[in-house]
Amino acid sequence: MNLLLDLLFPKKCVGCGKFDTHFCQDCVSNILQADLVCPSCEKLAIGGQTHPICKKRFGLDGLWSLGIYRGSLREAIKQLKYSRVQGLAETLVDILVEYWAKYQPFVLEQIKRNRGEGWVVIPVPLHWWRANNRGFNQSSLFGQMLSKKLGLDYCDSLKRIRYTSSQVGLKRGDRKNNVRDAFSLNTKYSIHNTNVLLIDDVWTTGSTLKECCYALKRAGAKKVWALTLAK
Ligand SMILES: [Zn+2]
Ligand SMILES: [Zn+2]
Repeated sequence: MNLLLDLLFPKKCVGCGKFDTHFCQDCVSNILQADLVCPSCEKLAIGGQTHPICKKRFGLDGLWSLGIYRGSLREAIKQLKYSRVQGLAETLVDILVEYWAKYQPFVLEQIKRNRGEGWVVIPVPLHWWRANNRGFNQSSLFGQMLSKKLGLDYCDSLKRIRYTSSQVGLKRGDRKNNVRDAFSLNTKYSIHNTNVLLIDDVWTTGSTLKECCYALKRAGAKKVWALTLAK
């Protein structure tokens, strides 16, 4: 099956179109690194950890993104969204983990030290009509692959409980209102006392990730780090 797919849709670099690779080394090295910022105030912060004075009871503990939403990274995320290129998702997971270890090893080392114990990967869910529309959730595909690579549990325990319109085109304040109390936890899984890597493709204003974090912490999660491909 894979062979057939490879014949029909030969691998092509998302950046330059070079064959036989999803993301060539040159285009990977052209990914622009984003500044490490506090997810609360978005000012510079060591390792992307939330400033002590910005900590909120149900707030995020940190944020890490692979790069800036531009150029070949933007193209990769778009392709991931609309054409479900499995191999591209795998490649992106490899790049993310490599860069993560290089630029923000703090959380990754903590995870590895405990052999992943107490950490789970949870994706931001799509609304049901959007999931149906596109057929799949790219954050969930990405999250599953990342959890495998890191040897962590994967758990799609977040669900949307309320209709939210698309965030595209909304102003910051409107975005926040749009996702307020939009998420809840699937009671099938307990996330009490676990640490969470919360996965999404792009951090824009962070309102969706913050709202998910709120639901997770209300359900007893200890630490919640947002991890996105771009911002
Ligand atoms: Zn390339
Ligand atoms: Zn801050």
